[in-house]
Amino acid sequence: MLGEWEFTEVTPYLVAVLGLLVVWQYYQMQIMAGRIMAIDIFDRSGIRMYIYLVPDDDAICGVCAGSNGRVFLPSRIAEKGFSPLHGQCQRPIPCPGTLIGLYGAWPEARGVVERARAQAKKSGVQLSHEELRALVNGQWEMSISAETDRLSVHMIESACYEKINRAVSITGYRYVIEEVKEVRHLLLLVPAYLRLALLLVRSGDNDAALALIDRFEARFPSKKRGLHFPTAEQRNFMKMRKSHLLGNQPEKIPA
Ligand SMILES: [Zn+2]
Repeated sequence: MLGEWEFTEVTPYLVAVLGLLVVWQYYQMQIMAGRIMAIDIFDRSGIRMYIYLVPDDDAICGVCAGSNGRVFLPSRIAEKGFSPLHGQCQRPIPCPGTLIGLYGAWPEARGVVERARAQAKKSGVQLSHEELRALVNGQWEMSISAETDRLSVHMIESACYEKINRAVSITGYRYVIEEVKEVRHLLLLVPAYLRLALLLVRSGDNDAALALIDRFEARFPSKKRGLHFPTAEQRNFMKMRKSHLLGNQPEKIPA
């Protein structure tokens, strides 16, 4: 009996050790093949850069649109008085902008991290629309950071493609809404809901927009407070949009 007991006690550890060996073997092969740098394995817990992102939409003010694609190292975000904008947003109701965190282990992203580090004490790095699209069209799914960055990549892709391929953005925002499960991704949820509702309205898909707004209201009950819950303004946006969709109000809703 004792032998049996020992066996069951030890088995989980053996399995864990074997699992680790397999994982290390896999990373070793990836390093040898030049697909990842060894350093990525030892420093993959956190976020290596943030990108400020506004949706590609004509309703965004000049200041916010002019700050789109700015890249920041985490140390910069932590500074007192930090703002991702070049100036002050010019709209009475601020434009929707999000700081998206990435580990970024695939070649295109790694290049951006390196540029941002080299520029840390200088003017900083700002990616154009083309560079942002090149970033998310890179081989990110093949990289060691695929799981860490998946939702952020979809969020960047969705924001970049709003004007040139709305279907891509709708799919991306939907994906984010479905897949947000970890606390670190919660900040993506409200922006994804707001943008998706707008794009569905623009597509004339009123039923889907209404269903989404119902889901938003159920997800964020107005009497509750929580991490990254919508602001009163954001709730009001959704309420106005719903009212319009139900035919109670003319559409006069900003982006
Ligand atoms: Zn603005």
